[in-house]
Formats: sequence, structure tokens, C-alpha cells
Amino acid sequence: MNMKPLEGEVALVTGATRGIGAAIADELAARGAMVIGTATSESGAAAISERLKAAGGAGRVLNVTEAGAIEALIDAVQAEHGGLSILVNNAGITRDNLLMRMKDEDWQAILDTNLTSVYRSSKAVMRGMMKARKGRIINIASVIGVTGNAGQANYAAAKAGIIAFSKSLAKEIGSRGITVNVVAPGFIETDMTRDLPDEAKAAMAEQIALGRLGAPADIARAVAFLAGPDASYITGETLHVNGGMYMP
Ligand code: NAD
Repeated sequence: MNMKPLEGEVALVTGATRGIGAAIADELAARGAMVIGTATSESGAAAISERLKAAGGAGRVLNVTEAGAIEALIDAVQAEHGGLSILVNNAGITRDNLLMRMKDEDWQAILDTNLTSVYRSSKAVMRGMMKARKGRIINIASVIGVTGNAGQANYAAAKAGIIAFSKSLAKEIGSRGITVNVVAPGFIETDMTRDLPDEAKAAMAEQIALGRLGAPADIARAVAFLAGPDASYITGETLHVNGGMYMP
């Protein structure tokens, strides 16, 4: 019998309606995981259910900034499926502005959505994973969290926070059989980056060793690797998936 590498695993992917999150959900499902993908609306959740149902997965509504919502969803998934072995914190937003013009609410929204959500979901999923003595937590940061970027001090701070948070948690729970890793995408063509003019995208591609912008599937395959058996001895790591745009 030819087992798929993630057969028997239950995965939760936040922000799975489109872009990188949708590609991650599809890739994990293709590799055999039962995937729950989250959306911010009922219609988004229904669309995810439709996409994932062949592989036994489903969509659920989740606003990662709503206090108690992630905890409730993780509890429900663990109860319904007898555990949750893969958590992918992908949901994220940008609110770009030069710091001089940045409003407190734009700073706070980025920290709440991109960083505090990761703290909450990781904390909520840990107990079950520790009991099972297995688990993979994979957090989506950004190359900007390492290089910084003018106009993105809020986003860069949150993404750098994810990297430091993940290393710390990896040290806390490694002995319980749980790995915590980060994927740091470079420039990926999604709704988040669609407003950039074509000339700017072409100029950016010239700065990338592989000569092209990334696709969501490029990130999804890296996440699936970290979720799978081949990555069992990797933890606290940040995997840069940027086509050679930045080399640490
Ligand atoms: P996207 O805008 O296409 O998708 C973002 C997803 O997050 C959507 O599904 C959205 O519904 C969800 N989301 C937003 N706010 C939410 C909330 N409050 N609660 C729950 N879900 C919420 O963006 P994308 O490019 O696919 O980005 C996915 C992740 O990758 C983000 O964390 C982003 O910061 C990161 N990233 C993207 C790029 C890029 O170039 N596109 C580069 C580096 C990192």
C-alpha cells in the first residue's frame, strides 16, 4: 500500500480562502492530511469546504483577532477529530505607512492579526500536542521580518516577532516531540501584492536570483515539507523561500 506522507494527520490552516493559505491547505490535503481551513466569512468557509471535501477536510469561520475564537476552534477540532497534529498560522494583513504617518490603530491591528494570533493559537494547541507527544507548528513570517522595509515597520516588527517567538517555543516544547518552525516568504503573487505596478514587479524580479516572483505553491511545498516526516529533526528554524531575493 502506498501511504501518503501526511495520512492520519489533522491540520488547521488559518486564512485558507485564497493566496498562500489556500495553497497550503490544498498541498497538505494532497499529501493525505485531513485539513480544516479557516475563513473570515460563512461563504468563505463554505468555499473551503467545497474545495477540501474530497480529502475529508472542511472550512470553518475564524477571525484571529477575536478573543477566545482560536481557542474555541482548536478545542472543537481536537474534540471532533481526536487531536490536531499540524497547525499553520498563515492569516496576515498589511497596513503600510511611513512611521511618521502611522496611526496607532494600524500598528495595533498588525500586531493583533499577525503576531498575537500566533501566540494564542500556539498556546491553545500545545496541551493536546504535548499529550500526544507529537505536533508541528508552522508559522508564516516574511523576509521583511529579517530585512525590514520602509513603510512596513509594523509588519516587520510583527514578522520578526514570529521568528523569535517560534525559536523560544521550539526550545520550550521540543522535548515533548513538537517542532516549531517558520517559513519566510519573499515576494509572492497574491492579493496582498496585487496592487504593485507591473514595472515595480519586473524590477523586483531582477533582484531575485531565480528571476521570478514566487507563487503560493512555492510556499505551500515548503510548509508541507516542514509538516512531514522528512523534517522530523528540524525545529526553531526559519526556512527562507524567496527565490534568492535575500540570503541570510
Ligand atoms: P492574502 O491577503 O491573499 O491572504 C490572507 C489571508 O489571511 C486571507 O485568507 C484572509 O482572509 C486571512 N485573514 C486576514 N485577516 C484575518 C483575520 N483577522 N482572521 C482570520 N483570517 C484573516 O495574503 P497572502 O499573500 O496569501 O498572505 C498569507 C501570509 O503570507 C500572510 O501571513 C502574509 O503576511 C505572508 N506573506 C506574504 C507575502 C507575499 O508576498 N504575498 C510575503 C511574505 C509573507
